[in-house]
Amino acid sequence: GDEVVLVGRSNVGKSTLMRELTGHRFDTGGKPGVTRQPNHYDWAGPDFMFTDLPGFGFMSGVEEGKREQIKTDVVRYVEENAEQIIAGVLVVDGKSVIDIIDRHQANGDIPHDVEMFHFLQDVGIDPVVAVNKMDKVDDRDERLNDLCDRLGLYPPWQQWQETICPITAKNGSIGTLEEALGDRFREAKREELLQFV
Ligand code: GDP
Repeated sequence: GDEVVLVGRSNVGKSTLMRELTGHRFDTGGKPGVTRQPNHYDWAGPDFMFTDLPGFGFMSGVEEGKREQIKTDVVRYVEENAEQIIAGVLVVDGKSVIDIIDRHQANGDIPHDVEMFHFLQDVGIDPVVAVNKMDKVDDRDERLNDLCDRLGLYPPWQQWQETICPITAKNGSIGTLEEALGDRFREAKREELLQFV
């Protein structure tokens, strides 16, 4: 069936978003990063599911080696299932994402979010970026333009509305993301139908 994967650092609001997208309630475990198995949800029909992949990056109380392993598992899952994945949603925290990217860059590291964005592209999955916690962001346009810049997308962000989706999952304001995903679904269905022409 068709699958949409959610990836992102821990604590960006992935579980909250998952709940909004699916209407399913589930235990987030209380502690960020403890949901290490892919969780599958039906949505928009039986052939369709969302997969919430484990959060990566810094997690308090989780050692470096374990964190690296989690990221490796996420990458492997996406690679192995790339054929059936019709969209990859990279969830970021709109309030902190730029600072975190820039800090990693300054240390000579590749920021996880940037790496994951390019990884999805490399395996042929056009990424959708859910920029969450926009309720905490004052300088909305500037922030979203900065994010485009860091991801190698030419600003202004309004040119990328199928890719950059500002949301507030906590309040259920996820319309931009649902719209972008709707476009991906229709595209995937069209391609599927074209196979039989
Ligand atoms: P996960 O680790 O990525 O699954 O993150 P969670 O869904 O557990 O959320 C982490 C924290 O961010 C929780 O305290 C949520 O209430 C909070 N959160 C999630 N979405 C939003 C949002 O849109 N705005 C704000 N301000 N907080 C949010």
